[in-house]
Amino acid sequence: MTQHDLVVIGAGPGGYVAAIRAAQLGMNVACIEKENALGGTCLRVGCIPSKALLEASELYRMATGHLSEFGVNVEGVKLDLPKMLQRKDQIVASLCKGVEGLFRKNKITRYTGHGRILAAGRVGIEGPQAQEVSAKNILIATGSISAPLKGVEVDGNLIGTSTEALTYPEVPKHLVVIGAGVIGLELGCVWARLGAKVTVLEYLNRILPGMDTELATEAQKTFQKQGLEFRLGMRVTGARVKDGRCVVECEGQEPIDCDRVLLAVGRLPNTDDLGLDALNVARTNRGFIQVDRHFQTSIPGIFAIGDAIPGPMLAHKAEEEGVACAEGLAGKYCHVNYDAIPGVVYTDPEIASVGKTEEQLKDAGIPYRKGSFPFMANGRAKALGQTEGRVKMLAHAETDRILGVHILGPRAGDLIAEAAVAIEFGASSEDIARSSHAHPTLAEVVKEAAFAVDGRAIHI
Ligand code: FAD
Ligand code: NAD
Repeated sequence: MTQHDLVVIGAGPGGYVAAIRAAQLGMNVACIEKENALGGTCLRVGCIPSKALLEASELYRMATGHLSEFGVNVEGVKLDLPKMLQRKDQIVASLCKGVEGLFRKNKITRYTGHGRILAAGRVGIEGPQAQEVSAKNILIATGSISAPLKGVEVDGNLIGTSTEALTYPEVPKHLVVIGAGVIGLELGCVWARLGAKVTVLEYLNRILPGMDTELATEAQKTFQKQGLEFRLGMRVTGARVKDGRCVVECEGQEPIDCDRVLLAVGRLPNTDDLGLDALNVARTNRGFIQVDRHFQTSIPGIFAIGDAIPGPMLAHKAEEEGVACAEGLAGKYCHVNYDAIPGVVYTDPEIASVGKTEEQLKDAGIPYRKGSFPFMANGRAKALGQTEGRVKMLAHAETDRILGVHILGPRAGDLIAEAAVAIEFGASSEDIARSSHAHPTLAEVVKEAAFAVDGRAIHI
């Protein structure tokens, strides 16, 4: 039986990053992945392909209308969907190959097959490389899967999840999206930009639960102008294919006829087929593996990270945990600051957030001051033709320490990095306001929001 220091199950951003960091720290590391390509949900069917389609569909939208606002007239614009999909596939393939290269460079043993934990220190591999391997420590990084919805009959074609919505061979005439969360909005925007009628059905009375309410409401209005139809407060009771069409049923409503359905009501941890019950590994009632602050499960020597454990289901959160867990195993300091993990929705405009929302501060009774500044008053945003949205900064009313930053606007996903660093370093709004920001940049809106915390924004 081959002996390793660490066997990682799953090669997503949590697992492959943990494997690399552990190898850098001198461990003999193996990684078991059931798919042929490395990179997990994120690289294969998540973050990367969705962003490739978001960028491409946005260019198409610009070319078919908005470029003329810049005095650039283009004629005869045509959508080449097969090429757009092929470009996305090439980006995915090159990044997955990149992870293979990183594994070779770091001398990580790769096993292809389904990993199952037989006991602490022993993992069985099923598939082409069937065998048993042993390890001082085992790390579960098996990620998540799309959550099903009672009555919705996913056929992997006309009624599907995000994975199918990344590969539709033609633009649907009418796409119904169930769930106004991150996936529903990002992929709904892609297909709306390419010409589909998109109807988003959401159970709650708002979109993007968990994000800043004020900005989410503002964003909804913008998405509506872009052609997305929202039907909030809708309880979907079923969806099925009938005579080549899809029928979606909602409580108290007429059935909706459409070409395709995207089910996006959240994701569940992928922890069912790993042998955890036989070992009595503690899990929450939704299946997330419970871990301590060193990411150790209830069984010594078995660790877990990423989407398989509680917390935001984000690639960079999984990566942070992968690094921290590997460093902990090497006897180093093991810590992730969950207050400084940003979240980004890559729509147009983007929505980004780090730290606490106003709602959370109110609920916790924490006194805060708020500074808000619109992109409308920023020179660079005007030059870009992207003036919607604002930066909102929340700072402690007494100490001025930054508690949360929420951005709706152009490149919000890049701008939020400054706020995440500020929170990580315990910065005050005064620190950001006193730091020089190049002119003319979108980042000046972050600085002005910091000034606005103290009621002294300059350019408004
Ligand atoms: P995963 O990436 O899910 O990887 C788990 C791996 O384990 C998979 O490769 C799986 O095949 C393998 N595996 C599972 N069970 C076994 C087993 N028994 N044996 C062997 N291998 C196994 N997050 C962001 O931060 N930004 C984004 O823009 C973003 N966009 C997304 C878009 C979509 C459409 C989706 C679906 C998700 C997106 N996410 C995004 C979320 C992100 O993909 C996940 O949070 C992230 O991939 C979690 O990483 P992970 O390593 O925990 O698990
Ligand atoms: P989500 O949790 O973001 O949104 C699900 C939405 O579905 C919610 O608004 C919820 O109220 C709604 N919903 C639940 N049940 C419903 C029902 N019966 N009828 C109608 N609506 C219902 O989940 P998601 O969009 O599926 O994304 C899953 C995960 O993937 C998220 O946790 C997210 O972190 C991750 N992700 C991240 C990114 C990113 O970082 N840009 C992109 C895509 C996915």
